[in-house]
Amino acid sequence: MSTTFAIPSRCTLCPRRCGADRAAGRAGYCGAAGTLKVARAALHFWEEPCISGTKGSGTVFFSGCALRCCYCQNYPISAQAFGKEITVDRLAEIFLELQAQGAHNINLVTPGQWQPWIIAALDQARAGGLHLPIVCNTGGYETVESVEGWRGYVDIWLADLKYASPDLAKDLSAAPDYPAAAKAAIEAMLAQAGHPVMDADGILQRGVILRHLAIPGHIDDSFAVLDQMAAWNDADPGCFIPSLMSQFTPFYQAAEHGIGRRITTYEYRRVVNYAMDKGLTAGYMQQKSSAREEYTPSFDLTGV
Ligand code: SF4
Repeated sequence: MSTTFAIPSRCTLCPRRCGADRAAGRAGYCGAAGTLKVARAALHFWEEPCISGTKGSGTVFFSGCALRCCYCQNYPISAQAFGKEITVDRLAEIFLELQAQGAHNINLVTPGQWQPWIIAALDQARAGGLHLPIVCNTGGYETVESVEGWRGYVDIWLADLKYASPDLAKDLSAAPDYPAAAKAAIEAMLAQAGHPVMDADGILQRGVILRHLAIPGHIDDSFAVLDQMAAWNDADPGCFIPSLMSQFTPFYQAAEHGIGRRITTYEYRRVVNYAMDKGLTAGYMQQKSSAREEYTPSFDLTGV
């Protein structure tokens, strides 16, 4: 099947609005140019339990990223253009292959810079029988227009709220507008997806998971992020599922930005306790362990 869609000639798909002529094959700040690029597509078992379930999340990692954080654990994909160029037709096949493998959902990791390509592939895959919920796994640095552009395609937003401080966002992601952009985008996601809906097996079908990765030495900013999350939750209790993450690892250029270590147990415990005190209890906290980390329900982790 051949699919037509418009490739941006002045790209404004993300808040950078760098204006790259992607139709002419030019790459933007995110590293994405005119041909779709994907780094990995496989069942993935390490998301929150309501996403990974028992059969895995059908995860597709897209190349490039509008944020390119200095500590990115996927930096070969996000910042170094690792990936394979594929057609929209092939992406549609990949979605159907993941469904055939038993995936609970299709999990689009950092898809924003490829929105027109992916929407064309989703249309094609749906015509071919794709029926799974679609997860948009995003760093939260989205425009409201982009969130609206996913309406009718994305069922679940798996979004980060990384920073509250523009200075920290500038230092670690070269995006001082991140806090304002992410706040507006997440509010659009919450309005679009509505309250979380699970199926009978506890697998999320619709809604928003808001993640926060605690960064060593910056737990004051984590507190400010949690204040924002708590404000949303207070205004509309249960409107999203919070997910606190302890897995920060000093990948890529982290050491050059003064965060060349893992978070301590004490720091993470303070962040978890702050979330609990703010009423963000109905979600996930990542167990901190020297051997491995995994998601467990928060009620198991009070007092971590
Ligand atoms: S998605 Fe990429 S090319 Fe488009 S505006 Fe953002 S950084 Fe520029």
